Amino acid sequence: MKGDSHFDLITIGSGSTAFAAAISAAAQKKTVLITEERTLGGTCLNRGCVPSKNLIEAAHMWHNAAHCRFPGIHTRQEHLDFQELIDQKNEVIDFLSRKKYRSIIDQSKQIEIISGHAFFVDSHTIEIEGNRFTGDQILISTGSKPRIPAIAGLKETPYMTSDLLSMNEAQELKELPEKLIIIGGGYIALELGQMFQRLGSHVIILERSAHILPKYESEIGIELQNLLIKEGMDIRVNSQIKKVEKSFDGINVYTSSNKIEGTHLLISTGREPNTQYLGLDRIGVDIDEKGYILTNEYLRTSVPHIWAAGDVIKAPMATPVGGHDGTSVAENAFAKENRKINHNLIPRAIFTDPQVAVVGVTEAEANEKGLSCRSSSILFEHVPRSIAVRDTKGLIKMVIEMPKGKIIGVSILSSQASEIIHTATLAIKAKMTIDELIDTTFVYPTFTEALKIVALSFNTDISKLSCCAEGFK
Ligand SMILES: Cc1cc2nc3c(=O)[nH]c(=O)nc-3n(C[C@H](O)[C@H](O)[C@H](O)COP(=O)(O)OP(=O)(O)OC[C@H]3O[C@@H](n4cnc5c(N)ncnc54)[C@H](O)[C@@H]3O)c2cc1C
Repeated sequence: MKGDSHFDLITIGSGSTAFAAAISAAAQKKTVLITEERTLGGTCLNRGCVPSKNLIEAAHMWHNAAHCRFPGIHTRQEHLDFQELIDQKNEVIDFLSRKKYRSIIDQSKQIEIISGHAFFVDSHTIEIEGNRFTGDQILISTGSKPRIPAIAGLKETPYMTSDLLSMNEAQELKELPEKLIIIGGGYIALELGQMFQRLGSHVIILERSAHILPKYESEIGIELQNLLIKEGMDIRVNSQIKKVEKSFDGINVYTSSNKIEGTHLLISTGREPNTQYLGLDRIGVDIDEKGYILTNEYLRTSVPHIWAAGDVIKAPMATPVGGHDGTSVAENAFAKENRKINHNLIPRAIFTDPQVAVVGVTEAEANEKGLSCRSSSILFEHVPRSIAVRDTKGLIKMVIEMPKGKIIGVSILSSQASEIIHTATLAIKAKMTIDELIDTTFVYPTFTEALKIVALSFNTDISKLSCCAEGFK
């Protein structure tokens, strides 16, 4: 009960993973102490999904005001007030924080929250600002933080991370960068880069690989790169960063071939788990060489009553993954459910415009696994809906396993990719073959029909299809 110092469950961290576990434990009549050293709600709410998707959509609207796709409709950009934009972003965070996080604690007799840095004193006891609390079960859900690479001069140079999206923190960005240099070409760099470019910054992306998104299907990475360059972004691939320095009015970045001058620097080179200063070695919780907590398939750590889930374990870093696994922890700890984790089929999306969404394996991954596979891709300019609404950018690629033609991977570049990918996920989960997909009736005209058309493209010349994707087997 509230005010006690002993709880059935203690969560270290208050992000989506911790909240899912707390809600499930409370539903099982257990008492829960949530701890938080920074902001209630964690990364997704305060400096990740919510603020980024809010500002990306705002930038999308601003961009569209000057780029209406329909001849005959003439719109233009009037006035952009960056501070007002940031204020409304904070209003949205504040609203969701009260509605989806604070109110849950306020309305629950079983869930309590305490602020401050938590660390283990022993395997059942944590300490926060001099106060000790004990838990029968403890969940480590401390999330992740931006990884900062060892670049000469970086310590002496002002730089930002994705924490620029935060609210009421020193890292919060309050002014629109004039010339933004981004080191890294992954999903956060691209989402934020396009957002700033569209709001009016000049953005330079420095990517060390031969093209952006090197772990995705190369067709997707290369096509998105071409589209972003067409929109005005400066993307420099094969960039080796030698050093950075503070200049009179900004920063300089030196690559092996160039000196690049900017007003702001954004480091976006991946994330790493928050496992320092927790006292894990004291209690015998094992971590891997990169600091991720090791768990078994039930999310138990090497200490049986201590669990770990979310960004702090080696799993796809995404809110629904942590939420799902946080629930599993509470079920496994209290309902003796033995729910195993399954990260094999996690759809992922990048909210650039057009969006990228993927599920299952890429062609290269299927080949690495020694699977006998085929792949096919089509451009969205073959999808009737895309033509009808003048939105033909992008492509879809499907990988199938032979001889039956079972669908094992789908990658999409399209303005609607994050929506279409769910149908692809269900098809893979149901172990569907391309013939079964082709035999399914889709709504016409929709972007999701792209799935049926790419399935047809394995054995059919799709340029000979009539409007709805029928007529061939
Ligand atoms: C810019 C950006 C955009 C993103 N966009 C998306 C998206 O569109 N969709 C999506 O699914 N995912 C997205 N993500 C990823 C998503 O935000 C994370 O996967 C998710 O928030 C992880 O949740 P978590 O509960 O594991 O950790 P977190 O939400 O990070 O929560 C962990 C909390 O633990 C606290 N903590 C750490 N150590 C201690 C300690 N010792 N004591 C007390 N508290 C501690 C931290 O302060 C933090 O608040 C994005 C991430 C970023 C950075």
